[in-house]
Amino acid sequence: MSNLFYQTKSPRPLLERAEGIYMWGQDGKRYIDGSSGAMVSNIGHSNPAVLAAMRTQMESSTFGYRLHFQTESSEKLASMTAALAPEGLNKVFFVSGGSEAVESALKMARQYALTQGEAQRYKVISRYPSYHGCTLGALAITGYAPMTAPFDPMMKAMPKIPAPRAYLDGLDPNDEATGQHYADMLEAKILEEGPGTVLAFIVEPIGGASTGALVPPAGYMQRIRDICTRHGVLLVHDEVMTGGGRTGRFFGAEHWDVAPDLIALSKGFGGGYVPLGAMVARDDIVEAVMASGGFIHGFTYAGNPLACAAGCAVIEQIEALGLVKNAATMGDKLAERLQSLMQQYPLIGDVRGKGLLTAFELMKDRTSKEPLPPELHAHSRLVDIAYDNGLIIYSRRTRGGASGDHFLVCPPMIVTENQLDDIADILAASLAQYMAEIPEYSGAA
Ligand code: PLP
Repeated sequence: MSNLFYQTKSPRPLLERAEGIYMWGQDGKRYIDGSSGAMVSNIGHSNPAVLAAMRTQMESSTFGYRLHFQTESSEKLASMTAALAPEGLNKVFFVSGGSEAVESALKMARQYALTQGEAQRYKVISRYPSYHGCTLGALAITGYAPMTAPFDPMMKAMPKIPAPRAYLDGLDPNDEATGQHYADMLEAKILEEGPGTVLAFIVEPIGGASTGALVPPAGYMQRIRDICTRHGVLLVHDEVMTGGGRTGRFFGAEHWDVAPDLIALSKGFGGGYVPLGAMVARDDIVEAVMASGGFIHGFTYAGNPLACAAGCAVIEQIEALGLVKNAATMGDKLAERLQSLMQQYPLIGDVRGKGLLTAFELMKDRTSKEPLPPELHAHSRLVDIAYDNGLIIYSRRTRGGASGDHFLVCPPMIVTENQLDDIADILAASLAQYMAEIPEYSGAA
C-alpha cells in the first residue's frame, strides 16, 4: 500500500541503481534505458564527473536564494548556455523544468510587447498535435486533447495550426513546396486572428512526444521565421526535448540555421541529474523588460546552485565526450536498424527523427496510413512487452491523442553500436510477440 501516486497506477518495480544506459530494478532485472527516461538522461546515468561536480558544490552550498546571493555556478551555466545559443540570444533565466521554461518564455514575450506599446498582443499560436507542458499556461498552447480537454474551461483558448505531418498527408517532406504549404498555414492564422493581436508562435523544432520525432519539411523552419518577423510575432523554439544535443546539434533548430527570439530548454540540459531548465532570450527583449521595471516572474528554486553546478558538468561532459557528434552518428545507425525492422514487420508504418530523437509508428495499413484500432492500445501494450523484455521505450497516441501509436527510441547519447544492436534485437522480439497477439492486423504491407 503506497501513499504515492502519479497519473495512473504504476506497476513498475523499485529502482535500485542506474549506470550508463542501464537501469536495475529491485526485481533483479536489468533494463536498457532506450528512451533516456522521458528523453532526459542524455549523457547516461551516474556520470562520475557530474556526480563529482555535484558533490563539490554540495560541500559549499546547496541553496542560495537568487534575491540574496549571486552564485558562481549559475553565472557559469548562464555564460556556457549563451555561448551555445544563437547569436543575439545571450540572456538566460533559470527554471526547474520544461513547463516552467515555456511559461517563462510566454510571459517574457508578453512583457516585451507591453514595453513596445503593443498591449493588444496576447495570442500565442501553436500546433496540433504538440506538447509544451502541463501547467495551465503551457497546457493552453499544447495540442493534445486527452491532456487539455478536462481543463479547457479554465484556460484561455489559443489558436492552433496543423503540425506539418507530410507523411500522413501524402506530401514529400523534401520538397520546399511542402514546407511552404504548412508554413503558410501560420500566416493564414495570423491574418485570421488579426496580426496586431498575435504575440508569439511556439514550435518544437523536431516534434517530441505528441508527434513522435516529427521532422519539419524542407524550408518550413526558415519560412515560419520569415512570417513571424514580417508580422512582429515573436518566435519561440521549444527545445525542451531537442536542446542538449540529442538531435545531432546542440539545439535542434541548428539543422536549419534559424534563430528564434526565445528558447525553452530543460530535459537533457540537466541530463536527469537535477530538475533544471532555462529560458534563453534575445538581449534586446530582456533589456527592454528590465528597463521597464523588471520581469514579473520567478520560481523559488530557479538558479539553484546545485542544479546549475550539475548543468555545467553536463555540458562539459557533452563536449568532452563528443556526445553531440555521437548522437548524429549513432542516430543514423539506429535509423538503419529501425528501417530494417520496418522491412521485417509490416505493422511499422513510418520511421522518423533526427540523431537520437527517433521514433517509429505502428499502423494498420502502411499505404493508407490507417492507424490500428484505438481499443488495441498498441501504444501501451508494446511498451509493456518491451519493458518485460528489458527495454524501456516511450510512446504516445499519434493523432492528437485519439488514435495512432508511435514509439520513441531515444537512448542516451553515449550509446554504442553494440548496444544499438541489443536494442534492435529486443525490439524485434517484442514486435514479434505483439504481432502474435493481434494476428488479424499483423499481415498488412
Ligand atoms: N516542452 C516539450 C517539447 C516537452 O517535451 C516537455 C515535456 O515532455 C515539456 C515542454 C514540459 O516539460 P516538463 O515535463 O519538464 O515540465
